[in-house]
Amino acid sequence: MSYDHIDVPSDGAPIEVENGALSVPEDPIVPILYGDGIGKEVAPVAESVIGKAAEATGRDIRWMRVYAGESAREIYDANLPDETLDAFREFRIGIKGPLTTPVGAGFRSLNVAIRQSLDLYANVRPTYYINGVPSPVKRPEQMDMVVFRENTEDVYSGIEWEPGSEGSEQVRDFIEEEMGYDDILHEGDIGIGIKPMSEFASKRLVREAIDYALEKDRDTVTLVHKGNIMKYTEGAFRDWGYEVANEEYGDEVITEDTLWEERDGELPEDAVVVNDRIADNMLQQLLINTEHYDVLAMPNLNGDYLSDSSGAQIGGLGIAPGANFGDNRCIAEPVHGSAPKYAGQDKVNPTAIILSGRLMLEYMGWDDAADLVYQAVEKTIEEGQVTFDLYRQIEGGEKLSTSEFGEAVVDNIEAVNE
Ligand code: NAD
Repeated sequence: MSYDHIDVPSDGAPIEVENGALSVPEDPIVPILYGDGIGKEVAPVAESVIGKAAEATGRDIRWMRVYAGESAREIYDANLPDETLDAFREFRIGIKGPLTTPVGAGFRSLNVAIRQSLDLYANVRPTYYINGVPSPVKRPEQMDMVVFRENTEDVYSGIEWEPGSEGSEQVRDFIEEEMGYDDILHEGDIGIGIKPMSEFASKRLVREAIDYALEKDRDTVTLVHKGNIMKYTEGAFRDWGYEVANEEYGDEVITEDTLWEERDGELPEDAVVVNDRIADNMLQQLLINTEHYDVLAMPNLNGDYLSDSSGAQIGGLGIAPGANFGDNRCIAEPVHGSAPKYAGQDKVNPTAIILSGRLMLEYMGWDDAADLVYQAVEKTIEEGQVTFDLYRQIEGGEKLSTSEFGEAVVDNIEAVNE
């Protein structure tokens, strides 16, 4: 494919799919989207750290800049050019910084559009404690879990009508006259949104979470839902999740509602246990029984709330990594946004996007490079070399800028690799 504004490196090779699996060359072309606000500062740091880890393990990533948001408006006069989506589609694996979304009015979220266009159906957010990181809870080291958040539907589907619009009045008429709910909607202007949740998308998300748990030797997969209230969406998500667990995995997966306490903390060996929790209970469970949870599978909105709050338990948004998985596709991106109030100050923490890059390396099958990234980040933080967000919570550290922190991690990749 040819591109108008994207320079495709001439000396690398694309990642391809062979016999249903990724085939990753030693010099892959990897798209990188810096993003808006602090994205422009943290993404280049991830580029140098991830590139260094690849080099230290005998490979060479050929980075390829692609554009969306502010950078795309400058080059293409568009928020999300087709060629950016084409490049992610063609090269399969990439990394992306945060993009700004206006609240209330303006364009739809570019992040959501990218995930939906590329069918990146699972937003994966590992939440684990790094030694040396200050935390607001007493035992942050008990948290070691991975959130699988459904990425393509739920209230994020974008099917909604503005208050007072012709659309919202038409939908109101349909709900009241055709569907018979004539006593529920209040008079006057009303905004209406639709919450679709399908068997197809729920099941593939839960399948992805169970496959991950089996591959990574995890013990449990917990389905998190609000099915007691939203019976036909979130309740159906839970039922479909159990169907996948019961029907597709034989002895490898057991479904069980028995509470951990009744099992006395014992889990059956070599099998993944699938259970479920109601979302509001889950938020307190993660504070009081943190160590009971392992892999979590949940609809889009629950997943967004829960991963931000659990991210805070292990050090905040500056630390929390993420990635979007599709079928043989992955775009890594931090949980945090573009933090406009800190943009342009070379100040914020690039750890979240660096550790997102670690996830990307694991997805490529480069576990040795991924481990180097983790060890180098941990060593840097343990040495007390941190950005302002962590510095203000620890004693005796050294406050580094975004770029200085990146340089320290790159140096530590060499140190831990010796
Ligand atoms: P945000 O994550 O950008 O920032 C919230 C706060 O978190 C910041 O003020 C800061 O205190 C802290 N923070 C975030 N990243 C940090 C870092 N790397 N280091 C240190 N501290 C950090 O959330 P917001 O202010 O609600 O959103 C700003 C914009 O980002 C909005 O337009 C929103 O739509 C967008 N957003 C994009 C994504 C994405 O691209 N995936 C995700 C979330 C929000």
